Amino acid sequence: MPMPVLEEKRRAALARALGQTHQKRAQAVAEMPEWEAMRQRAHDIRAAAMERLDEHLAQFERAAAANGIHVHHAATAEDACRYVVELARQLDVEKAVKSKSMVTEEIHLNRALEAAGVRPIETDLGEFIAQLKGDPPFHLTAPVVHLTRDEVGQALAEKLGVPFTNDPAKLTMIAREALRREFLSARLGISGGNFLVAETGGIVLVTNEGNGRMVTTLPNPQGPRVHVAITGIEKVVPTLRDAAHLLRMLARSSAGARLTAYTTFIQGPRKRATGEEPSGPDEVHVVLVDNGRRAMLADAKLREALFCIRCGACSNICPVYRRAGGHAYRSVYNGPIGAVWSAALWDTEQAAALPFASSLCGACADVCPVKIDIHHAMLWQRNLATRRGRVPAWQRLAWRLWRVGMEHAALYRTGSRLARLLAPQSLLNAMARPWTPKRDLPPLAAKTFHELWKEEA
Ligand code: SF4
Repeated sequence: MPMPVLEEKRRAALARALGQTHQKRAQAVAEMPEWEAMRQRAHDIRAAAMERLDEHLAQFERAAAANGIHVHHAATAEDACRYVVELARQLDVEKAVKSKSMVTEEIHLNRALEAAGVRPIETDLGEFIAQLKGDPPFHLTAPVVHLTRDEVGQALAEKLGVPFTNDPAKLTMIAREALRREFLSARLGISGGNFLVAETGGIVLVTNEGNGRMVTTLPNPQGPRVHVAITGIEKVVPTLRDAAHLLRMLARSSAGARLTAYTTFIQGPRKRATGEEPSGPDEVHVVLVDNGRRAMLADAKLREALFCIRCGACSNICPVYRRAGGHAYRSVYNGPIGAVWSAALWDTEQAAALPFASSLCGACADVCPVKIDIHHAMLWQRNLATRRGRVPAWQRLAWRLWRVGMEHAALYRTGSRLARLLAPQSLLNAMARPWTPKRDLPPLAAKTFHELWKEEA
């Protein structure tokens, strides 16, 4: 099924917003004449991490245990959810505060918590608004980039019972007030993890709003007593120096900033015997999620996708994403790298179709701070989808016919003449109906290029 496109007004607003972010990125990159060398180094760091993934994970686990962190390996999404739900049951909590985490979206943790009677509260401003509206994230780093100020104001007014405003400063204060109460009364904090450092056994977390710190390190006893970080196994990096380099690449690529506003290094639960002001939770857990990542690692042509540091730069530049928007992918992972991840993680016809929704222009690979060859990964996934029978029969037949036509000029000319004669515009419109509500299907040209060329010659 073709991807739906956004209506014209929203598409223009989205293109403007993404264009501005892309522009800020370009300025931040232009400040660094050595950017290409930095990209190569980032690529090498991620390649080295994946090359000996098990070794780095084992090192991380040992160091984390020495820091007092519990590490749980989750082979599947269900396993990861079960572990977190069990923690919530042991704590006997009715709610949990969350900072932004794509992995928790991937494993549908909120659904699992709700089924267990625990209310998950998203505390990243964008995620908070998306949750109020009941929407999935629209973008890897900007979950509600597609909404107008009026729409955000309406959502807050309807769901929180506050007077309507579309003033961004007032909207932020409303959300801040609502969330502050939740931070101070929650006993379970859930976060993702941008990087796991093998040599220190620590978790690196970046946010631009400080909500990550409220979830993980509020002074006890007000804040969460237990912090659980849920992250993919691929987030491990060998050294703190490596993490520092990737942090620089991430901030410039995602927001055009030199560093994100808050970078938090979590080294374990609060220390009881230091005599300092007690701060942070009593327990820290890390859930290392596989859920299909090892299969990606085993495929030499997909392995690079695991290098992704989720900056979102590839979505901001992608002509397909700009037109279709994040929800069109019908997957928590959207945009060019989201298409690759979705097709790798979920063996469904819908996920397998996503790598086909690309012009393969390669703009995504050009901006990727870790130099992932994204469009070639998509090309490879098209190949895999075809071989696994994930491409609908009518499409395979259509391509076969097209190929025969392309290989035989006389056949092609006869076929296109017949199409013009036998397929009236109304029939073509009917065949293209999923596309035509928001696009025009121009009538077939009266003459082919070949005929025009012959006339002119
Ligand atoms: S693939 Fe590259 S550009 Fe896209 S989100 Fe990941 S790191 Fe960023």
